[in-house]
Amino acid sequence: MNNKLDIAICGCGPAGLAAALYLHRQGHRVRIFERFGQPGPVGSGLILQPTGLAVLADLGLLDHLLALGARIDKLFGRVMPSGRVVLDVRYRAMGRGWQAVAVHRAALFDVLRGAVRAAGIELIAGTTIEGVDQRGLRPVLTAANGAVIGTFDLAVDALGARSPLTGPIARRTALAYGALWANVPWIAQGPFAANALEQRYRRASEMAGVLPLGRRAPGEPGQAALFWSLKRGAVADWRRQGLDGWKAQVVRLWPQTVPLLESITDHSQLTFAQYDHFTAARPYSAGLVHIGDAARSTSPQLGQGAIMALLVALALARALEGGADLTSALPAYARMRRWHVRLFQWASAMFTPFYQSDSAVLPAVRDWLTAPLSRLPVADALLARLVSGMTLPPLRGVKFRALRLERDGPAKDG
Ligand SMILES: Cc1cc2nc3c(=O)[nH]c(=O)nc-3n(C[C@H](O)[C@H](O)[C@H](O)COP(=O)(O)OP(=O)(O)OC[C@H]3O[C@@H](n4cnc5c(N)ncnc54)[C@H](O)[C@@H]3O)c2cc1C
Repeated sequence: MNNKLDIAICGCGPAGLAAALYLHRQGHRVRIFERFGQPGPVGSGLILQPTGLAVLADLGLLDHLLALGARIDKLFGRVMPSGRVVLDVRYRAMGRGWQAVAVHRAALFDVLRGAVRAAGIELIAGTTIEGVDQRGLRPVLTAANGAVIGTFDLAVDALGARSPLTGPIARRTALAYGALWANVPWIAQGPFAANALEQRYRRASEMAGVLPLGRRAPGEPGQAALFWSLKRGAVADWRRQGLDGWKAQVVRLWPQTVPLLESITDHSQLTFAQYDHFTAARPYSAGLVHIGDAARSTSPQLGQGAIMALLVALALARALEGGADLTSALPAYARMRRWHVRLFQWASAMFTPFYQSDSAVLPAVRDWLTAPLSRLPVADALLARLVSGMTLPPLRGVKFRALRLERDGPAKDG
């Protein structure tokens, strides 16, 4: 697109920040609006799959994150009390050099935010967006009581899963299980693998996980994310129960978590995250485009949300670059991501109940069927490709290669 647009990016999560960087680099006038006075990351840590790493490399930000994050070679889970392995995804099944990187959410935020600041992109904090008026030629963003925030050529909705701008949604399902998350000090040479996301399950109704995160900032000590599956309706009971009762439950499932739990002394150290499953029927309308969790959202079981947010920012940038105007560019953006998004929405909806549900049948199927299947030579590579975001081309019609990091040395501790 030759003409330069006045673009509002709504929300400064990974999708908004990455889109702001791409669109600014294309010469558009970009402003970011965020509700928090002091924008910051929400939550604990996340895994960046090879597809997301490629976007960060494209933005020139990968080295900063590699210096902070923890290399992840496998996703590994045992059902208790038998100890039987029921999740075993190894990136090396795809070949040498493939791996993911786990990072503190704040590390990803700081790197993206730092790049936005260095580029001189304006971030208007403390602005809560309530709606968009699309009756005129250009979209008008509004705050509470209809107060006008501004008129733009394009509004990019990156407001996350609860965006007030998301249009008609095919169907929104509130998932019964969410999770408690806490950041805890990493124990070097401890009982947890430094290069794996590890989980323990009892049926599918109990699940604990430990993910090494590396460091939040250079020179800081290593951290891990500790998470515990919890139903939406059980949060009040969990608070009433007191921390000791909850810790005893976690330890019953996974005795080695004792030293990690010691650092949790207050409920406020744990964040409860709940998930919805939905896909926006059409991720754009006149002068408005939805990206990241505002366009689709699901449980984090497959660890795809942040990389989807990064990929979609790249897709939007490529579509704007290639389109003659917004009328052709926005449908092109939607086409680029359609099948990749559909596959993951489907896979996430299918796999989540095997690991988080009240079902007695699904975990039994998981224990006796999926685990041995996943160890078959072809199946292990297929699973690794699925988790890496590489089963289908992430950007249809666009040359894109997931990133294979040639870091085959020993995994660094925490
Ligand atoms: C517990 C948990 C674990 C996860 N683990 C992984 C993982 O391992 N790997 C992975 O890839 N993904 C993971 N995800 C998913 C990932 O975090 C999300 O998919 C990703 O953050 C979505 O990015 P986003 O920019 O679209 O939205 P968000 O990150 O939700 O950002 C939205 C931004 O908009 C702002 N905002 C919201 N409403 C308004 C408003 N009305 N006005 C102004 N500003 C507003 C918010 O403050 C926020 O800054 C996980 C998610 C959770 C909850």
